[in-house]
Amino acid sequence: MSVRVRFAPSPTGYLHIGGARTALYNYIFSKAMGGTYVLRIEDTDVARSTKESEEMVLKDLQWLGIDHDEGPDKPGKFGPYRQSERTELYQKFADQLIDSEKAFYCFCSQEELEAKKAKAEAENADPTYDGTCHSISTEEAKKRMANGEEAVIRFKAPKKDYTFVDKVRGEITFPNGMIGDFVVMRSNGLPVYNFCCVIDDWQMEITHVIRAEDHLPNTLRQLMIYEAFDATPPVFGHVSLLVGHDRKKLSKRHGTTAVGLYREDGYLADALNNYLCLLGWSHPDETDIFTPSEILSVFDMNRFNKSAATFDMAKLGWVNGEYIRKFDTDALVAAVSSAIPEGALFFDQTPEWKAKACELYKEKCNFFKDFNPFIDSLFLESIAADEALEDIFSWESTPAIKDYLAGKIGEMVDSGIEYATEEHFGEWSTHIKKELKIKGKFLFMGMRGVLTRQAHGSDLKTTATLTPLKVFSARLR
Ligand code: GLU
Repeated sequence: MSVRVRFAPSPTGYLHIGGARTALYNYIFSKAMGGTYVLRIEDTDVARSTKESEEMVLKDLQWLGIDHDEGPDKPGKFGPYRQSERTELYQKFADQLIDSEKAFYCFCSQEELEAKKAKAEAENADPTYDGTCHSISTEEAKKRMANGEEAVIRFKAPKKDYTFVDKVRGEITFPNGMIGDFVVMRSNGLPVYNFCCVIDDWQMEITHVIRAEDHLPNTLRQLMIYEAFDATPPVFGHVSLLVGHDRKKLSKRHGTTAVGLYREDGYLADALNNYLCLLGWSHPDETDIFTPSEILSVFDMNRFNKSAATFDMAKLGWVNGEYIRKFDTDALVAAVSSAIPEGALFFDQTPEWKAKACELYKEKCNFFKDFNPFIDSLFLESIAADEALEDIFSWESTPAIKDYLAGKIGEMVDSGIEYATEEHFGEWSTHIKKELKIKGKFLFMGMRGVLTRQAHGSDLKTTATLTPLKVFSARLR
């Protein structure tokens, strides 16, 4: 049987990075197995579900390149793919449960149920549903409903242990009595998540369900429902939760959790996918940098990690930088250009200059917006000295370097030369070494200090060819 997986977001907000990771794992698994990846919109919570949210989630998934094979916008033979359009189906299966006496109509009000639960808890008794409506026949229930009374359909939870093998967590047993009879259909005719999820996974022939560990308690209810229909449950894999540095479930408190904000902040989709993939799965070669398509031949469910994964913004930033560093020069220049403010001197430079500058600074930048300060600094005539620079200026040899370069560069400017070449730079350093007899750090740091007014920085020879000679002259005054 071919693999069919699904990502089933509830459109009640933005796409959370935890959700994106779940989608990604399902997507990669389906591609690795030559299977089908389904997008199902779980919008039965009418009060909280919105069209805007669905659109936002779809847009973010599309940006990440997590393309579904079947979904609301890509009808397949298992549609519709929005739960709000499948209510008749849920009603049909709920009726079957009533007919087979595996579920019953329940007229207990919320207040009654809460009062009973509170009493049972106070008396240390079983707080689960007490079976009040078990004795109401279907016929009687239907009469009461025809007379305007409201009823839910409540599933009779079998009294036994449930065991299943989770692909990530191993064998799991839910002991008898963990849950009581539970609602599958609300009085307004809408299904409850655990019920419609099972009906859909079963009817859509989903073979594997990869989702986060916090869904584990739902799996017990879902196993009961599969059993009631004599249907085979899918293979479940409950992946570890994402947590912040305090090991608490990742939330807004820890920083941005919305995929869309990462996009707006200049993260690359490949980088975000890569990093999310690493949070809970590991590459057999222990490499950290790979795109989804690069791991299809090695991706399987055995390499999921059981322990919670810490979301680390610094590591994500580094991964983003690794992708930037993989850009070819033309693409890099185009991307950097779009992150530089309009009117910047960068735009007056030649294509060769731009290419050289972008290549020079890419080692230091994790985001395209990081390039601007470096590039900008090439045009700054006055840069305040810091302690490290003061130190260089206190060396006996530095004034000689400064005088020599001021003269040399002044002449070049006067003869209309705009930029030095690498050869010019070579001549300058040879002169300082041979004629001024200044060597080692006094030579290199001295030159860097007087030319860039910084003690540290990128390759000096390249920097020297990117800085306008007039700027050097101003700094050397
Ligand atoms: N709609 C559920 C959610 O967003 C799906 C859970 C599942 O994958 O079964 O959490």
